[in-house]
Amino acid sequence: MIETSFLYYNFGVRDVVGTRSEYKGNKTIIHVRPTRTLCRCPHCHSYTLLKNGTRERQIQTLPIGSRRCYLKLTNQRYKCTSCHWDGWQKIPGILKGKSYTYRFAQHVIDLLRMGTIKAVANHLGVGWDLIKSIHKDYLNKRYKSPSLKGLKRIGIDEFAVRKGHVYETIVVDHDTGRIVYSHPGKDKEALTPFWEMLKRRKITLEAVSCDLSPAYISAVMEYQPKAQIVLDHFHIMKLMNEKIDALRRDLYREETDLNKRKVIKGVRYLLLANGTDVMDPLHRTRLENVLVVSQKVCKGGLSLSQN
Ligand SMILES: [Zn+2]
Repeated sequence: MIETSFLYYNFGVRDVVGTRSEYKGNKTIIHVRPTRTLCRCPHCHSYTLLKNGTRERQIQTLPIGSRRCYLKLTNQRYKCTSCHWDGWQKIPGILKGKSYTYRFAQHVIDLLRMGTIKAVANHLGVGWDLIKSIHKDYLNKRYKSPSLKGLKRIGIDEFAVRKGHVYETIVVDHDTGRIVYSHPGKDKEALTPFWEMLKRRKITLEAVSCDLSPAYISAVMEYQPKAQIVLDHFHIMKLMNEKIDALRRDLYREETDLNKRKVIKGVRYLLLANGTDVMDPLHRTRLENVLVVSQKVCKGGLSLSQN
C-alpha cells in the first residue's frame, strides 16, 4: 500500500491511494485508486448521479531519479439524471483532459528555463510534442491578457505563419517592445477585439504605426480617432520605388530613339539608389543623363517625393 500522503507530497495528487507498484524497463508505474466516489453532481449539486462507464488512464508524473514515473488508475464516469451532466470524476492534481499531472507540467516549465524543448524532451524521455504543448499551454495562460497599462504608442503588423498559408495580426507596444495582442487573420476583424478591449479600459492612444493597409488605417480612424497614424518608412519607399520603376518601363517602351533607349535601360538601380550611391561621379553622370532624357521620370520622382 502506498500512502495518500506519499502521493500528495511527492506527486501533488490528492484523494488517491497506491495499491501496488510495477517496474517496466525505465518506467515505474504506481497503481492508484481514488479514495472518494462522487456523490453530488458538480453542476447542479443534486445526489442523482449514476455510474456511466470507466476508462483506464496512465498519467505521467514527476520522475524518480532517472526513471519515468506514471500513475495508473481507473477513472469513473458519471451521469446526472437531474441536469444531464455527463463527465469523468476529477482527481485533484491531474490536469483536466491531459495525460500528466500539474506537478509534471510545472517541472517541464522549470526545465525549459534552462534548456530547449528538444533537450527537455530528451532529458525526460518524452516526445517533443508533449513538451511543446505544455509550454504552449503555459504561455497561453501566462500571457493571455497582458497588461495594457500606460499603452500610448502601438505598432500593428501582420506576419505569415505555416509557410504563408495563415496570417496573424500582432500589436506591439512601441515603448516597451512587448506584444500586447495577437489574433489570426490580417483583416479589420482581426483587430476588433483589441479595439473593444481598449474601449473597455478607457485607453486613448497617442500614435499608431502600421503599413499602408486601408483596413488598418480605417479601423484606427474609427476606434481611436485622436491617435496619429504613422506610416512605415519602408512601405512608403516601397510604393515610391514601384511607381518610379513603372514610369521607367513605360518610358522605355514609348521611346523610339535607340540612343535614348540605351540611356534609360539598366538605370533601375540608379533611380532607386539612395544618396550615398548617387554621389559616386560615374553614377551621378548616368543618372543626370537619364533624368534629362526622361522628364517624365524626373517629374514623377519629384511629385512622389513632395507627396
Ligand atoms: Zn446535475
